[in-house]
Amino acid sequence: MKLLFYKYYLLAIVLTCLPAFCDGMPPEARLKVRLLSGFNTDSVSFSVVKGAYGMNCFPSGSALLEKGQSAVLFRSGEKLVIKTGNNPFWIVSDSVMLEGRDGNDSFTLSPGEQGQLTRQYSGELLCKADLGTLLLIGSCDEDTYIAGVVKAEGGSGRHREYFKVQAVIARTYMYRHLYRHAPDGFSLCDDVHCQAFNGITDDSLIIRAVDETRNLVITGPDSQPIISAFHSNCGGETLPSEHLWLTAQPYLKKVRDPYCAASPNSEWRKSIPAKEWIEYLGRSGMPARPADPAVLNFNQPVRMISYRAGNFSLPFVQIRSDLGLRSSFFSVRLEGDTVILSGRGYGHGAGLCQEGAMVMASRGFDFRKIIAFYYSGVSVTEIRTVSAGTE
Ligand SMILES: [Zn+2]
Ligand SMILES: [Zn+2]
Repeated sequence: MKLLFYKYYLLAIVLTCLPAFCDGMPPEARLKVRLLSGFNTDSVSFSVVKGAYGMNCFPSGSALLEKGQSAVLFRSGEKLVIKTGNNPFWIVSDSVMLEGRDGNDSFTLSPGEQGQLTRQYSGELLCKADLGTLLLIGSCDEDTYIAGVVKAEGGSGRHREYFKVQAVIARTYMYRHLYRHAPDGFSLCDDVHCQAFNGITDDSLIIRAVDETRNLVITGPDSQPIISAFHSNCGGETLPSEHLWLTAQPYLKKVRDPYCAASPNSEWRKSIPAKEWIEYLGRSGMPARPADPAVLNFNQPVRMISYRAGNFSLPFVQIRSDLGLRSSFFSVRLEGDTVILSGRGYGHGAGLCQEGAMVMASRGFDFRKIIAFYYSGVSVTEIRTVSAGTE
């Protein structure tokens, strides 16, 4: 009996220790995300929403901020200036660390002194001046971050299986790019450069989807996390990665998508004065104004690589980028003095089509089938079997 007890005791120790080694990210290495990275602000308001925060200003001292209390932090050169609501003095510091008192605390950040925009976070916050910017680095656990990304990238009120798809995509992206900003002292930024993270969410459907897919990532033939590209609507056909980024990925092939045709972003239309269209083509290398304007017409019933006008050609992805179009999947038709662009889809077109995935989810496909439909030849794998972070 005693031996049995020790056996279970040892097993309990092993099981308690396992997540630390197997979850891909040891608990002491909490995910560090640069917050408000798209705002380029020199000041930020910090307010405690839940619990209390210890504010450690290096090397000037510390203070406690209780629920409802706030502090404003300004960058001044390579220093930080801090003003708290209950203190008439300014504090000047090299950096400020804000740590929750009981681990269940949360706070809001607003860029600017009285910013209109407010985002809520949990975990710790490090603030410092760095190369002429105010650097705000939040530390949070993986699931909290993933749920926030699913909310930012996938919206709300979606089908459960769709949220699971988006959660696995977000986790895959996170593990692939864990070291993307390593030289800057954090893992990922919260902007679309990495993946959008607008703070924590209390959406119970999203939190459940993250929980139900815990540790799952998508891996390619090399057993590494894939480039989990996605976009709003493919227009009926996804774009192979080599036509978008010049690098062919075996899992980002052309997929014909029968699911997204009736979705909100399946079609678009844009009118451009013919003169502007011809000027644009001229700037892009078209040698001469066409003698017959009818050569400007171009039909794209299925995805093609380049637009053609006479002997001149220009990649559709470049036209999309130059003119800020919704997609690179469009036809060109001249009507009088106007060029009509009739497009399909929204976004770059590679990888998973979100609106198609939503329709699949509503028709009963589970998240693994939806992922397998859009990413060719991939596996959905526990992160513990994968060596993460190639970038
Ligand atoms: Zn980034
Ligand atoms: Zn689609």
